Amino acid sequence: MIVPIIKYGSPLLRKHSIDITGEDNPIQLSKNLLDTLKKADGIGLAAPQAGILKRTFVIDTSPLSEDDNNIEKIEKAFFNPEITWRSEDKIYYSEGCLSIPSIFEDILRPQKIRVKYFDENFNIIEDEFDGLIARIFQHEYDHLDGILFIDKLNPLKRKLLNGKLNKIKKSI
Ligand code: ZN
Repeated sequence: MIVPIIKYGSPLLRKHSIDITGEDNPIQLSKNLLDTLKKADGIGLAAPQAGILKRTFVIDTSPLSEDDNNIEKIEKAFFNPEITWRSEDKIYYSEGCLSIPSIFEDILRPQKIRVKYFDENFNIIEDEFDGLIARIFQHEYDHLDGILFIDKLNPLKRKLLNGKLNKIKKSI
């Protein structure tokens, strides 16, 4: 089921999400998020972007991996994720967000991360991600704590975006 994506300006995007439990119907939620992500042609979507304040997000790299064989194809839901380690090496990568349409900015983040999460079978998984997957994971993880990628811009760059951001705010 495709659900509406909440846009910048909604207070829901600034809230902290709580752990998801079996009672929250996590499988259905992750299916809805993946359907919505595919329809929007995005690569990551977090539950708060659908107005659901539970610690869950989905990643689907297929829009990029179809064009580039070097990109690993992942289509997956992450439940109650944690980042347990971040590399000291940081890299810039252009980020966008389905909640902040038509804004793309280079954002500096750790290149590698180690993570822990529950998968769709409720197994606890530990993994290490590098490059694009690490990037998407960190962006989506931030959504669970009410953090948006534009928060990571320096104050001047952020100021330069105010006009565009206000337009998105007014359109919601
Ligand atoms: Zn986002």
